[in-house]
Amino acid sequence: MKKSIFLCAISNISSGSCAEDCGFCTQSAHHHANIERYKYKPIEQIVFEAHNATKNGTIGFCLVTSGLGLDDKKLAFVCEAARAVRAELPDIHLIACNGLATIEQLSVLKDAGINSYNHNLESSESFYNTICTTHSWQERYQTCLNVHAVGLSLCSGGIFGLGESKEERTAFIQSVKSLAPDTMPLNFFIQNPALPLKAEPLSEKEALDIIKEVRAALPNTRLMVAGGREITFTSADCDIFEAGADAIVIGDYLTTKGELPEQDRSMITRLGYEIATLCHA
Ligand code: SF4
Repeated sequence: MKKSIFLCAISNISSGSCAEDCGFCTQSAHHHANIERYKYKPIEQIVFEAHNATKNGTIGFCLVTSGLGLDDKKLAFVCEAARAVRAELPDIHLIACNGLATIEQLSVLKDAGINSYNHNLESSESFYNTICTTHSWQERYQTCLNVHAVGLSLCSGGIFGLGESKEERTAFIQSVKSLAPDTMPLNFFIQNPALPLKAEPLSEKEALDIIKEVRAALPNTRLMVAGGREITFTSADCDIFEAGADAIVIGDYLTTKGELPEQDRSMITRLGYEIATLCHA
């Protein structure tokens, strides 16, 4: 049987101006990166993007907001967006990614039709306070536990290539494993002149080895290669799926352009895989 590759699209529904200082993130107001900023994306635009995503064979659609977490207005906006998408696309797998969240807030999202919550640990506990000083890794971990507590599917991973050591990388993978997420996004750091974080880019081989290490540690978790894929995996015969990935983010990322969806679809077929048609096999 051919391996199925799950496709997920993301929509940045509230972009930039974040008060946190995460050193890898262009949405932080501390770094003055050249990105588009807006408080709320129009609901019709979000629904339009969800339709486009499903036309491209996407099953997952993620509603992302910048910022540390949710206030009442932002929570109401995410719920409004979720309901509007669900009304037109009843079978879509809706993911919310809105920072730190309490059990009460996650319950509200679940009632609005959200299926999964994405909250990344980002890196290891010991390394995290060298890349972010305005909130703690422990708060991030607690949000993931809250996701389990309300019965939402958990999507949690992070970013590689931030300058973490191999030991810190392994500790990070073990922390994600302890949360037993349904999906783990693997991002690869994209350099940006505005960011304070400067790290030697990972080679393609190092990045493939990371996917293999994660696959060995989390054999039953969907591994989704997300931001940095196009920059990190460049050789024609590079097969991230052979290394262990079984999902990718398709289309544009939060603040950077992605590959054209049709290019990714033909790449998957050329490598001998099929596009997943179900969320959880
Ligand atoms: S909290 Fe999120 S949006 Fe804000 S700077 Fe950190 S990663 Fe970026």
